[in-house]
Amino acid sequence: MTPVNIIDGSSPVILAQPHGGTYLPSAEDAPAELLVTLNERGREMADTDWHIHRLYDGLLQDATVVEATFSRYLIDANRDPSGSSLYPGQNTTELCPTVDFEGRPIYQIEAEPDAVEIETRRNNYHAVYHAALSAQIERVRKLHGKVLLFDCHSIRSRLPFLFEGELPNFNLGTNNTSTCDPIIEEAALEVCANAKRALHGYSYVINGRFKGGWTTRHYGNPEKGINAIQLELSQKTYMDESSPWLYREEKAAKLRIHLKKLLNCLEKTITTLT
Ligand SMILES: [Zn+2]
Repeated sequence: MTPVNIIDGSSPVILAQPHGGTYLPSAEDAPAELLVTLNERGREMADTDWHIHRLYDGLLQDATVVEATFSRYLIDANRDPSGSSLYPGQNTTELCPTVDFEGRPIYQIEAEPDAVEIETRRNNYHAVYHAALSAQIERVRKLHGKVLLFDCHSIRSRLPFLFEGELPNFNLGTNNTSTCDPIIEEAALEVCANAKRALHGYSYVINGRFKGGWTTRHYGNPEKGINAIQLELSQKTYMDESSPWLYREEKAAKLRIHLKKLLNCLEKTITTLT
Protein backbone atom coordinates (compact mmCIF):
# COMPACT_ATOMS: atom_id res chain seq x y z
CA MET A 1 0.00 0.00 0.00
CA THR A 2 1.34 3.39 -0.95
CA PRO A 3 0.15 6.24 1.32
CA VAL A 4 -0.04 8.66 -1.60
CA ASN A 5 -0.91 8.55 -5.30
CA ILE A 6 0.60 11.19 -7.56
CA ILE A 7 -0.27 12.34 -11.05
CA ASP A 8 2.56 14.47 -12.41
CA GLY A 9 1.15 17.32 -14.48
CA SER A 10 2.52 20.29 -16.39
CA SER A 11 -0.16 22.80 -15.30
CA PRO A 12 0.63 25.39 -12.57
CA VAL A 13 -2.30 23.92 -10.60
CA ILE A 14 -1.94 21.16 -7.99
CA LEU A 15 -5.04 19.42 -6.71
CA ALA A 16 -4.42 18.08 -3.19
CA GLN A 17 -6.84 15.47 -1.86
CA PRO A 18 -5.94 14.57 1.74
CA HIS A 19 -9.26 13.05 2.87
CA GLY A 20 -10.56 10.82 0.07
CA GLY A 21 -8.75 7.66 1.25
CA THR A 22 -10.27 4.72 3.09
CA TYR A 23 -7.20 2.57 3.75
CA LEU A 24 -6.68 1.31 7.30
CA PRO A 25 -3.89 -1.13 8.24
CA SER A 26 -5.25 -4.64 8.67
CA ALA A 27 -3.87 -7.85 10.20
CA GLU A 28 -2.55 -8.92 6.78
CA ASP A 29 -0.37 -5.92 6.09
CA ALA A 30 0.54 -4.37 9.43
CA PRO A 31 2.28 -5.43 12.64
CA ALA A 32 -0.07 -5.90 15.60
CA GLU A 33 0.87 -2.56 17.17
CA LEU A 34 -0.38 -0.72 14.08
CA LEU A 35 -3.80 -2.30 13.98
CA VAL A 36 -6.39 0.39 14.22
CA THR A 37 -9.01 -0.73 16.68
CA LEU A 38 -11.94 1.36 15.56
CA ASN A 39 -15.43 0.55 16.77
CA GLU A 40 -18.33 -0.11 14.42
CA ARG A 41 -19.02 3.60 14.06
CA GLY A 42 -15.37 4.27 13.21
CA ARG A 43 -15.24 1.52 10.61
CA GLU A 44 -17.94 3.34 8.63
CA MET A 45 -15.40 6.17 8.09
CA ALA A 46 -18.35 8.56 7.70
CA ASP A 47 -16.12 11.65 7.64
CA THR A 48 -14.31 10.64 4.45
CA ASP A 49 -14.34 13.20 1.62
CA TRP A 50 -16.19 10.58 -0.41
CA HIS A 51 -15.59 10.31 -4.18
CA ILE A 52 -13.43 13.45 -4.20
CA HIS A 53 -10.96 12.00 -6.70
CA ARG A 54 -13.75 10.96 -9.05
CA LEU A 55 -15.48 14.32 -8.71
CA TYR A 56 -12.38 16.23 -9.86
CA ASP A 57 -11.15 13.64 -12.33
CA GLY A 58 -10.46 15.13 -15.77
CA LEU A 59 -11.65 18.65 -14.92
CA LEU A 60 -8.33 20.34 -15.54
CA GLN A 61 -6.04 18.94 -18.18
CA ASP A 62 -2.46 18.45 -16.97
CA ALA A 63 -3.17 19.30 -13.34
CA THR A 64 -0.94 17.59 -10.80
CA VAL A 65 -2.88 15.47 -8.31
CA VAL A 66 -1.61 14.44 -4.86
CA GLU A 67 -4.04 12.05 -3.23
CA ALA A 68 -3.80 10.41 0.21
CA THR A 69 -4.97 6.79 0.13
CA PHE A 70 -5.27 6.33 3.91
CA SER A 71 -8.31 7.19 6.01
CA ARG A 72 -8.32 10.45 7.96
CA TYR A 73 -9.26 8.26 10.95
CA LEU A 74 -5.73 6.81 10.81
CA ILE A 75 -4.21 10.29 10.76
CA ASP A 76 -5.53 13.55 9.35
CA ALA A 77 -3.21 14.88 6.64
CA ASN A 78 -4.89 18.28 6.89
CA ARG A 79 -4.02 18.87 10.55
CA ASP A 80 -0.88 20.37 12.09
CA PRO A 81 1.49 17.43 12.76
CA SER A 82 2.29 19.03 16.15
CA GLY A 83 -1.32 18.34 17.16
CA SER A 84 -2.31 22.04 17.51
CA SER A 85 -6.00 22.75 16.95
CA LEU A 86 -7.07 24.28 13.62
CA TYR A 87 -9.93 26.14 15.25
CA PRO A 88 -9.08 26.92 18.90
CA GLY A 89 -12.16 27.26 21.08
CA GLN A 90 -14.42 25.44 18.61
CA ASN A 91 -15.27 21.77 18.20
CA THR A 92 -13.02 20.18 15.60
CA THR A 93 -11.38 16.79 15.08
CA GLU A 94 -7.79 16.01 16.03
CA LEU A 95 -4.63 14.88 14.22
CA CYS A 96 -5.58 11.29 15.09
CA PRO A 97 -9.31 11.77 15.67
CA THR A 98 -10.98 9.92 18.54
CA VAL A 99 -14.47 11.17 17.74
CA ASP A 100 -16.30 11.74 14.44
CA PHE A 101 -17.97 14.89 13.12
CA GLU A 102 -20.99 14.12 15.27
CA GLY A 103 -18.85 13.95 18.42
CA ARG A 104 -19.25 10.19 18.76
CA PRO A 105 -16.29 7.94 19.75
CA ILE A 106 -14.73 6.01 16.83
CA TYR A 107 -12.47 3.67 18.87
CA GLN A 108 -13.19 0.58 20.89
CA ILE A 109 -13.02 1.19 24.64
CA GLU A 110 -9.52 2.25 25.76
CA ALA A 111 -8.12 1.60 22.28
CA GLU A 112 -7.30 5.18 21.34
CA PRO A 113 -3.76 5.69 19.99
CA ASP A 114 -1.09 6.66 22.54
CA ALA A 115 1.79 9.08 21.88
CA VAL A 116 4.04 6.35 20.43
CA GLU A 117 1.31 5.18 18.05
CA ILE A 118 0.58 8.74 16.95
CA GLU A 119 4.29 9.27 16.25
CA THR A 120 4.39 6.10 14.12
CA ARG A 121 1.36 7.20 12.12
CA ARG A 122 2.86 10.66 11.70
CA ASN A 123 6.06 9.18 10.24
CA ASN A 124 4.43 6.48 8.10
CA TYR A 125 1.54 8.46 6.61
CA HIS A 126 1.31 12.19 7.39
CA ALA A 127 5.02 12.84 6.67
CA VAL A 128 4.95 10.73 3.49
CA TYR A 129 1.93 12.59 2.11
CA HIS A 130 3.48 15.99 2.84
CA ALA A 131 6.92 15.00 1.48
CA ALA A 132 5.14 14.16 -1.79
CA LEU A 133 3.08 17.34 -1.77
CA SER A 134 6.11 19.54 -0.95
CA ALA A 135 8.10 17.91 -3.76
CA GLN A 136 5.29 18.58 -6.25
CA ILE A 137 4.96 22.19 -5.11
CA GLU A 138 8.69 22.71 -5.67
CA ARG A 139 8.63 20.94 -9.06
CA VAL A 140 5.68 23.00 -10.33
CA ARG A 141 7.11 26.23 -8.94
CA LYS A 142 10.39 25.59 -10.79
CA LEU A 143 8.41 24.96 -13.97
CA HIS A 144 6.22 28.09 -13.79
CA GLY A 145 7.80 30.34 -11.17
CA LYS A 146 4.52 30.05 -9.24
CA VAL A 147 1.97 27.48 -8.22
CA LEU A 148 -1.68 27.26 -7.28
CA LEU A 149 -2.36 24.68 -4.58
CA PHE A 150 -6.07 23.85 -4.63
CA ASP A 151 -7.06 21.75 -1.61
CA CYS A 152 -10.12 19.62 -2.45
CA HIS A 153 -12.58 18.74 0.33
CA SER A 154 -16.19 17.82 0.98
CA ILE A 155 -18.33 17.39 4.09
CA ARG A 156 -21.90 16.65 5.13
CA SER A 157 -24.05 19.78 4.98
CA ARG A 158 -25.54 19.43 8.45
CA LEU A 159 -23.25 18.70 11.42
CA PRO A 160 -24.47 20.38 14.64
CA PHE A 161 -21.30 19.26 16.49
CA LEU A 162 -19.24 21.47 14.14
CA PHE A 163 -21.54 24.25 12.95
CA GLU A 164 -25.08 25.59 13.19
CA GLY A 165 -27.67 25.08 10.46
CA GLU A 166 -26.81 24.12 6.91
CA LEU A 167 -23.44 24.76 5.32
CA PRO A 168 -23.33 26.76 2.04
CA ASN A 169 -22.62 24.63 -1.04
CA PHE A 170 -19.17 26.13 -1.73
CA ASN A 171 -16.94 27.10 1.20
CA LEU A 172 -13.75 28.80 0.07
CA GLY A 173 -10.88 29.18 2.51
CA THR A 174 -7.83 31.43 2.25
CA ASN A 175 -7.32 32.02 5.98
CA ASN A 176 -8.65 35.57 5.62
CA THR A 177 -6.86 36.29 2.31
CA SER A 178 -3.43 35.37 3.67
CA THR A 179 -2.74 32.17 1.70
CA CYS A 180 -3.09 33.45 -1.86
CA ASP A 181 -2.86 36.61 -3.92
CA PRO A 182 -6.10 38.64 -3.54
CA ILE A 183 -6.52 38.51 -7.34
CA ILE A 184 -6.87 34.72 -7.13
CA GLU A 185 -9.44 35.01 -4.37
CA GLU A 186 -11.42 37.56 -6.42
CA ALA A 187 -11.34 35.30 -9.47
CA ALA A 188 -12.65 32.37 -7.40
CA LEU A 189 -15.42 34.53 -5.93
CA GLU A 190 -16.50 35.64 -9.39
CA VAL A 191 -16.91 32.04 -10.56
CA CYS A 192 -18.89 31.28 -7.39
CA ALA A 193 -21.12 34.32 -7.98
CA ASN A 194 -21.84 33.03 -11.50
CA ALA A 195 -22.58 29.57 -10.10
CA LYS A 196 -25.04 31.18 -7.70
CA ARG A 197 -26.81 32.96 -10.57
CA ALA A 198 -27.08 29.72 -12.57
CA LEU A 199 -30.38 27.84 -12.69
CA HIS A 200 -30.84 26.13 -9.26
CA GLY A 201 -27.71 28.06 -8.23
CA TYR A 202 -25.13 27.23 -5.61
CA SER A 203 -24.67 29.16 -2.38
CA TYR A 204 -21.15 30.11 -1.32
CA VAL A 205 -19.10 31.79 1.36
CA ILE A 206 -15.44 32.65 1.84
CA ASN A 207 -13.59 32.25 5.13
CA GLY A 208 -16.80 31.30 6.93
CA ARG A 209 -16.76 28.22 9.16
CA PHE A 210 -13.93 26.74 7.08
CA LYS A 211 -11.01 29.09 6.49
CA GLY A 212 -8.61 26.56 5.03
CA GLY A 213 -6.97 23.73 6.95
CA TRP A 214 -3.35 23.12 7.84
CA THR A 215 -2.35 22.41 4.22
CA THR A 216 -3.63 25.76 2.94
CA ARG A 217 -2.16 27.68 5.86
CA HIS A 218 1.17 25.84 5.94
CA TYR A 219 2.04 26.11 2.23
CA GLY A 220 0.25 29.30 1.23
CA ASN A 221 2.90 31.97 0.75
CA PRO A 222 1.90 34.28 -2.10
CA GLU A 223 5.10 36.34 -1.82
CA LYS A 224 7.07 33.23 -2.71
CA GLY A 225 4.70 32.35 -5.54
CA ILE A 226 2.82 29.64 -3.61
CA ASN A 227 -0.90 30.43 -3.69
CA ALA A 228 -3.14 28.12 -1.71
CA ILE A 229 -6.92 27.97 -1.58
CA GLN A 230 -9.29 25.39 -0.11
CA LEU A 231 -12.71 24.43 -1.35
CA GLU A 232 -14.94 22.59 1.13
CA LEU A 233 -17.98 21.42 -0.81
CA SER A 234 -21.18 20.38 0.86
CA GLN A 235 -21.64 16.75 -0.12
CA LYS A 236 -25.31 17.20 -0.95
CA THR A 237 -24.12 18.84 -4.20
CA TYR A 238 -23.00 15.48 -5.63
CA MET A 239 -23.80 12.50 -3.39
CA ASP A 240 -25.98 10.98 -0.66
CA GLU A 241 -25.00 12.24 2.76
CA SER A 242 -25.63 8.95 4.53
CA SER A 243 -24.33 5.40 4.21
CA PRO A 244 -23.66 3.90 1.65
CA TRP A 245 -22.58 7.35 0.48
CA LEU A 246 -23.66 6.96 -3.12
CA TYR A 247 -22.24 9.19 -5.85
CA ARG A 248 -25.10 10.87 -7.74
CA GLU A 249 -24.04 11.12 -11.35
CA GLU A 250 -26.65 13.68 -12.40
CA LYS A 251 -25.97 16.08 -9.52
CA ALA A 252 -22.23 15.60 -9.92
CA ALA A 253 -22.33 16.35 -13.65
CA LYS A 254 -24.02 19.66 -12.92
CA LEU A 255 -21.53 20.53 -10.19
CA ARG A 256 -18.56 19.53 -12.35
CA ILE A 257 -19.48 22.22 -14.89
CA HIS A 258 -18.84 24.87 -12.23
CA LEU A 259 -15.79 23.16 -10.75
CA LYS A 260 -14.29 22.99 -14.22
CA LYS A 261 -14.91 26.70 -14.73
CA LEU A 262 -13.38 27.45 -11.34
CA LEU A 263 -10.21 25.45 -11.98
CA ASN A 264 -9.76 26.78 -15.51
CA CYS A 265 -10.30 30.34 -14.31
CA LEU A 266 -7.78 29.92 -11.49
CA GLU A 267 -5.24 28.38 -13.86
CA LYS A 268 -5.63 31.31 -16.22
CA THR A 269 -5.40 33.80 -13.34
CA ILE A 270 -2.22 32.29 -11.88
CA THR A 271 -0.67 32.19 -15.34
CA THR A 272 -1.24 35.89 -15.91
CA LEU A 273 -0.17 36.89 -12.39
CA THR A 274 3.07 38.85 -12.44
ZN1 LIG B 1 -11.62 17.17 3.81
